[in-house]
Amino acid sequence: MTRTPLMAGNWKMNLDHLEAVATVQKLAWTLDDAKHSYGDVEVVVCPPFTDLRSVQTLVEADKLGVKYAAQDVSKHTHGAYTGEISAKMLAKLGCAYTVVGHSERREYHGESDALVNEKVRALCAEGITAIVCVGEPLEIRKAGEHVAYTLKQVRDCLADLDDNHLAQVVIAYEPVWAIGTGEVATADDAQEVIGAIRGLVVEMYSAEIADSMRILYGGSVKSSNVAELMAKPDVDGALVGGASLDPVEFAKICRFREHVI
Ligand code: PEP
Repeated sequence: MTRTPLMAGNWKMNLDHLEAVATVQKLAWTLDDAKHSYGDVEVVVCPPFTDLRSVQTLVEADKLGVKYAAQDVSKHTHGAYTGEISAKMLAKLGCAYTVVGHSERREYHGESDALVNEKVRALCAEGITAIVCVGEPLEIRKAGEHVAYTLKQVRDCLADLDDNHLAQVVIAYEPVWAIGTGEVATADDAQEVIGAIRGLVVEMYSAEIADSMRILYGGSVKSSNVAELMAKPDVDGALVGGASLDPVEFAKICRFREHVI
């Protein structure tokens, strides 16, 4: 089974809508300018909510190959939920993906696996692919319990989903200690946990679903380390934070196949 590599740039709370347009233009231009098709790598940017309409307008008008995603979604469909954004609203904006359960949402907003599960369902109902973030904090890694900890998160975030919903799920393994710290997990560390996640999906669902599910690594990915990570059999792409704010650097990450390990 060949899984299409996915490179998703999580901008977090950076870049306003004008900066977003300039960044996506430069990213698309850099990818095309290299005369390399990025058709065999899916390239996604995850701007703040306020940028999405501008990015949609640009992507549609210029027929860019770059896709875009939101960084979060409400579990509710509509109604009196001040400040929240529904999956239906994101679908209307043409979002192909949405990140859920990022460690920053878990840490600063107390999001649980049960809530992430509800958000995944809300997205699936609108045909949006959820990028479900999981990963252990440093103390868990030090205690050697990182695999068990992360598998429990996966089990709870994906609990009781239908097979057709699972086709719309991407998992991002992001060890919390590697996010924004410059401390990248080794390719072997990433493979250990991502391989175990795939094994769990076989157990929970089926070999076919596990085989087609894309599982990303995230945590201080840069153009200098992406090729080594992507060389691992179960690593299907990256969720990139800081390095995705620079379109030239992010384009280099997307063109990981050109790098020499
Ligand atoms: C992230 O925010 O998901 C992330 C992986 O950030 P960084 O690449 O900056 O570590």
